[in-house]
Amino acid sequence: MRKGRLIVISGPSGVGKGTVVKGVLARDPKTWLSVSATTRAMRPGETDGVQYRFVSKEQFERMIDEGKFLEHACYVGNYYGSPLEPIEQRLADGFDVLLEIDVQGGLQILERRPDAVSVFIAAPSFEVLAARLRGRGDTAEAAVAGRLEAAKREYRIAPQYRYLIVNDRLEDAVNDVCAILRAEELRTNNQTELLKEANNHALSPDE
Ligand code: 5GP
Repeated sequence: MRKGRLIVISGPSGVGKGTVVKGVLARDPKTWLSVSATTRAMRPGETDGVQYRFVSKEQFERMIDEGKFLEHACYVGNYYGSPLEPIEQRLADGFDVLLEIDVQGGLQILERRPDAVSVFIAAPSFEVLAARLRGRGDTAEAAVAGRLEAAKREYRIAPQYRYLIVNDRLEDAVNDVCAILRAEELRTNNQTELLKEANNHALSPDE
């Protein structure tokens, strides 16, 4: 059976990664989104176990010690991490697993899983990003400033990602991610079984 691929999606807070990811999940039934654990406070409208698993700092540190994370990072004062076991399970089931994570986590994945597909989502401009963060209304001004500082650091790491998408029109960005997934599927090194079979035929004496 086909084994799934690990897809890292990063980009500054406010760039609309979450909405792009939702669009991809709705379009492609072979994709699954990893639910991260975090120590940050729950925002209005969020539910434990849906957007995140909300845990205490002590619980998170215990999970680090027990090797429960594929990657983890501290982002603007809070821990975030991708739980390893459900990810491995879904990959084995043939799903493409989407990790919507910051660049520190993204770099850990690129090092540990060189086969992972990495996509950086950028805003059309820094001004658009700042306006989107303020307009979201769920993040205090001090936190907005912290996230903009983090965004500058994230853009510096963007060239290490395999793909870059500008999220100007949502529909275009979703199409772009789906196109990347399809192109990755068609890469020859992802179709070794088919090539092996073709080679066997080529070697058989009666053809
Ligand atoms: P937020 O607090 O706005 O939900 O997320 C803040 C940042 O943390 C975003 O850039 C988001 O992609 C990132 N993030 C969410 N989950 C994880 C995770 O499991 N690992 C890492 N490294 N970053 C994460």
